[in-house]
Amino acid sequence: MNRPTTLGILGGGQLAQMMAIAARKLGIKSVAYDPSRDACAQNHAKLVVGSYSDTLTLERFADSVDVVTYEFENVPTETVRAIGGARTIHPSPEALRVSSDRIAEKEFFTKCGVPIGPYRAINGGDSLRKAADELGLPAVLKSCSGGYDGKGQFLLHTHDELENALGQIGEAPFIYEAFVPFERELSVIACRNIFGDIKTYPISQNTHQHGILVRSEAPAAVSDETQQQAITIATSIGEALKYVGVFAIELFDVGGKLLANEMAPRVHNTGHWTTEGAETSQFENHVRAVSGMELGPTEAVGHSVMLNIIGAMPDADIVDGIPNAHLHDYAKAPRAGRKIGHITINSENADECRTTAAAIQARLRNTMPGGGVRP
Ligand code: AMP
Repeated sequence: MNRPTTLGILGGGQLAQMMAIAARKLGIKSVAYDPSRDACAQNHAKLVVGSYSDTLTLERFADSVDVVTYEFENVPTETVRAIGGARTIHPSPEALRVSSDRIAEKEFFTKCGVPIGPYRAINGGDSLRKAADELGLPAVLKSCSGGYDGKGQFLLHTHDELENALGQIGEAPFIYEAFVPFERELSVIACRNIFGDIKTYPISQNTHQHGILVRSEAPAAVSDETQQQAITIATSIGEALKYVGVFAIELFDVGGKLLANEMAPRVHNTGHWTTEGAETSQFENHVRAVSGMELGPTEAVGHSVMLNIIGAMPDADIVDGIPNAHLHDYAKAPRAGRKIGHITINSENADECRTTAAAIQARLRNTMPGGGVRP
């Protein structure tokens, strides 16, 4: 494969923006495709505006680039079809298929020998009540596709809550997952290139509020054995899909045993720390992988904490005078629950890094969906 000069990205949000910044450093231009004129990637990439079913505009977009990738997993099949004839798409449509449907994903994990928690497929009241009988409560009920950042999810403690959820979901395909009593949430970011080389980043430890990621810390304090479990999980998935690009596996740590929650076939929020905190960022390695290049080293540089900025930007001076804190403003309109920037604190010393992060976190005014300012 000749090294591409232009990368096409489906989606024009912050992930596309950060990929485009990384691509530029490698001498590659980017074109982002998004239905919105306001897509924030346009500050770093040429923007093509069109719907994901606009075959003509999609074909024109495909003609203007050498290789296509995406920043979100719910790319409609018709979009992939419109582009797939003209240009190579990485990661493959099969990676999209398994990761855009939670049941297909669980079946795929099982096939790969990746440990997961108990679940049942739901399509209406009978299956839901049967699942509750078999797996018990509490449980998490999630829409099979389209949900992200905790959207389309119900945490169920009682049969009343279950009946109430049923009233809202009807016969739509859902998944019933037994509540996993995890000690912490971890994730592993991995990348695989067209030559089959796979690299993983050190594990991140992640904190969510209202289903939204607020903080990641890396390298997480995990044993070599835990790191090895994550590497084995990522490698099995990457190999099985003959995956090309960066992907993330979200994990639950249950007493030192890792269970996979879900995969994202793209660069991931829990890997944003790699921009300052790793030898090669996840964005650069994604561009390298899909462009047919060798992968860069994935070792951590010092210790990092990444804080998401959700809903409202903090005062512009929030990191002034803190040399190891880096503010990323996506230039997106503020809205409760919307990720509009992040701050990465990177330091040689893990304790110093955490202390600085805690001081900055106390000054963030993150606003979550449903209103209200929460610390
Ligand atoms: P997801 O959309 O699957 O990433 O879920 C969003 C968040 O909900 C996760 O990061 C967890 O904090 C929580 N969660 C999801 N599934 C489960 C589960 N089966 N047991 C316990 N917590 C869960």
